[in-house]
Amino acid sequence: MSFDNKHWFTEAIDETGTAFSLKLKSKLHEEQTPYQKIEIFDTQTFGKLMVIDGCTMVSSRDNFLYHEMMTHPALFTHPDPRRVLIIGGGDCGTLREVLKHPEVEQAQQVDIDERVTRLSEQYFPELCESNHDPRAELHFTDGIKWLREAENESLDVIIVDSTDPIGPGEVLFTEEFYRHCRRALKTEGILAQQSESPLLHQSILRNMYQRMQAAGFSHQATLSFPQPIYPSGWWSATLAGNINLRDFREQDVAQKTFSCRYYNADIHKGALAVPEFMKD
Ligand code: SAM
Repeated sequence: MSFDNKHWFTEAIDETGTAFSLKLKSKLHEEQTPYQKIEIFDTQTFGKLMVIDGCTMVSSRDNFLYHEMMTHPALFTHPDPRRVLIIGGGDCGTLREVLKHPEVEQAQQVDIDERVTRLSEQYFPELCESNHDPRAELHFTDGIKWLREAENESLDVIIVDSTDPIGPGEVLFTEEFYRHCRRALKTEGILAQQSESPLLHQSILRNMYQRMQAAGFSHQATLSFPQPIYPSGWWSATLAGNINLRDFREQDVAQKTFSCRYYNADIHKGALAVPEFMKD
């Protein structure tokens, strides 16, 4: 099979010795923002594809897996999530999932790069359908700056839907950032952060756990789920808090008023199961 980059997009990663390719129809857009390089492609079988600094971010076909699992486990673990903060999430898919929860009164989204959102509105309009919900607030600045200035005990859930811990996303994986998250969350508040691949990035996961503990989060739980366009195709979200993160409002999930394409109570329980190799 020939892989020429006229007809294929490939993300090849030296550190992990892995690569992922999607067959292309065309390249739709490319720009260098003050923060990162954004490319948009039209693919043969995965719809539109957004790439930031050479890393796959979101595709039309499989983003539901990620956006549902970044949102619903955290919100159904929290007893009564009313004020939610999303750090990153510029494609707005996570915001859309958060606003499906009727009890949420305010969802603030803080992405460093406004161009991600403007391009998502153009190429992924289905992810942006809740951007004008009266409960939604979109801000464009560095997430750590926002958290440094956040009020004590003002939030119920913080979702960190950021790029990898390199480049502008790196600060969002530091103990300082987690300390500000802990301070800005109410006592039973929950932090949910995309935590890379359980198979390829165990050192990142280990660092996250150590830094979250050092920042005052006594409990962590990692949920894994498929995400074909990300390295290894197996991804995760890690919850941190000071409550039992393995119990959730299962009855409320069964009675939820909105539809999901992946998430349900069984998926929630299954995603919490810890593989043997991850137990240490
Ligand atoms: N699902 C993707 C992943 O797991 O790689 C993330 C999707 S979303 C497009 C990632 C967003 O994080 C980008 O829009 C980027 O602009 C944003 N971002 C990176 N560093 C940031 C920072 N320090 N503060 C706020 N947003 C940041």
